[in-house]
Amino acid sequence: MERNKCIFLDRDGTINVYKGLISKPDDIELIDGAAEAIKLVNKSEYLCIVISNQPGVAKNLYSLEEAGQINEKLMKLLNEKGAYLDDIFICPHHPDKGYPEENSEFKIKCDCRKPDIGMIEMAQDKYNIDLSKSYIIGDSTVDIQTGINCNIKTVLVKTGLAGSDGTYRVCPDYVANNLYEAVNLILRGELNGFIKAE
Ligand SMILES: [Mg+2]
Ligand SMILES: [Zn+2]
Repeated sequence: MERNKCIFLDRDGTINVYKGLISKPDDIELIDGAAEAIKLVNKSEYLCIVISNQPGVAKNLYSLEEAGQINEKLMKLLNEKGAYLDDIFICPHHPDKGYPEENSEFKIKCDCRKPDIGMIEMAQDKYNIDLSKSYIIGDSTVDIQTGINCNIKTVLVKTGLAGSDGTYRVCPDYVANNLYEAVNLILRGELNGFIKAE
C-alpha cells in the first residue's frame, strides 16, 4: 500500500495569530490566507495535520478539555472557509516544576513535546505517513528543530515568532512569508521560488 504524504503544521503563529498564551477559544483568530492555504492542502495529495505544544495544560492555565475547545474553534473557523484539518495532536506536558497550581499529572518529561518527535511518530503510525515525502511548517525554531529531529523538510514562516524565539540554532530548509506562500510553493514544487535559508 502506498504511504501518505503529510504537511505538518504548527498552530499558534502559523495558522492563527500569535498572541502569547492562547487560553480560550475566543483567542483564536486566523492569519490571513491560512484557511485558503489549508484548503489547497486538502485538495492535494498531502494530509494536513497540526502538531502543537500546549504546556498551559500542565501549568493549569487551562484544562485539557478547554484545550480541545480551543482546537474546535480553530476547526470551526477553518470549516467556515471550506478547509479542514485531518487531525490535531497536542502535547499537554511541561517538564519544569514550580508553577503555581500546576497539574502534576502533566508535569512530566514526555517524548511528545516538540522538538521531540512523539507527535510526528503518533501521526506516522496512525496515517501510514512517509516522512521522506513530508514537510513541517512553523514559526519557531522549535518547529524547525522538530523537523530536523525526524529528518523531514522544514519551512519557517515569517508570521508569529518568525524564528525570533532563538531557542535552537537551526537553519530551516526554506523560509516563506506566511502559510499561504509556504503551501503554494510546496504544492507547485517551485522550490526556486523559496528564499533558500542561509
Ligand atoms: Mg508557533
Ligand atoms: Zn508531551
